[in-house]
Amino acid sequence: MKITQLLQEDKVTLSLEVFPPKKDTAVEQVSRSVREIAALQPDFMSVTYGAGGGTSAYTVQLAQEIKAEYDVPSMAHLTCVSSTKETVKKQLECMQEAGIENVLALRGDIPADAEFPLPDQFHYAVELVRYIKQIAPEMCIGGACYPEGHPEAVSKAQDIQHIKEKVDAGCEFLTTQMFFDNDIHYNFLYRIREAGITVPVLPGIMPITSAAQMKRSQELSGTVFPRRFLAILDRFGSSPEAMKQAGIAYATDQIIDLLANGVNNIHIYSMNKPEIAIAIMNNLSEIIKC
Ligand code: FAD
Repeated sequence: MKITQLLQEDKVTLSLEVFPPKKDTAVEQVSRSVREIAALQPDFMSVTYGAGGGTSAYTVQLAQEIKAEYDVPSMAHLTCVSSTKETVKKQLECMQEAGIENVLALRGDIPADAEFPLPDQFHYAVELVRYIKQIAPEMCIGGACYPEGHPEAVSKAQDIQHIKEKVDAGCEFLTTQMFFDNDIHYNFLYRIREAGITVPVLPGIMPITSAAQMKRSQELSGTVFPRRFLAILDRFGSSPEAMKQAGIAYATDQIIDLLANGVNNIHIYSMNKPEIAIAIMNNLSEIIKC
């Protein structure tokens, strides 16, 4: 099922994200997590793609498994930053053969030590979106956006213009980078709607359940943690079980606030942790019926 079709329905949708194994030895463990997460029957699941090529080999396979074995619509991420156009083409052909209907078209992070871009590489996600439209026009294409602005962006206004270019090129919905203050998201929504971007935007909610995870998330996305979250970390950060509970509660609270403010489609970075996905889904079991 195409994600745009799901998003057109007048109902709350919850989607969950997983990532492929980093090493061949972890395949079993990841498959188990994916199975348990799929058992929650989310509206769709997305599978990340390793920018360095490290974990990309399993992305299509996992997305196919989710759809075929667990009957959950799936989306495969695809980055273009460390791939030649030929590799991107092959990856898209694999998706088509596997019957994958949804792709999240991304640039990826530029590896620090790489010469970029090479002549046979795409520079930005917008070029990937145009290419997919050309060679796999049947695919439903999503893209990324950044409520706090992409870390490399010269300004938020320019970043939004680049998002608009992606949408004009054929990107049919957007998923946001993680954020921890919903007001930042509401402000972003206002600004992109003003800029003429009308496609659905799925807020990406990251449950932070440890101090180490918070540090990694900050390094990765440059996100700002509000005082309320910092107080939680300060009080519970050194007690793993308490911090887990508090992190789940914080993510749940963010989701409830989004739903209460009319945001119907929520994406959760469940990060191969079924116990966290289960806890959040349980917390929302009645709420999502309204
Ligand atoms: P782009 O849309 O190309 O934007 C990148 C930067 O370039 C922005 O600053 C933008 O303003 C600027 N820009 C865009 N177009 C132009 C232009 N024409 N001229 C000048 N500047 C321009 N990474 C992975 O490796 N694997 C994943 O699976 C993955 N999944 C993700 C899922 C989500 C929901 C999000 C939010 C991010 C994900 N990422 C993933 C991280 C992502 O690849 C990085 O954030 C990357 O740095 C930017 O990718 P993008 O597709 O947003 O790039």
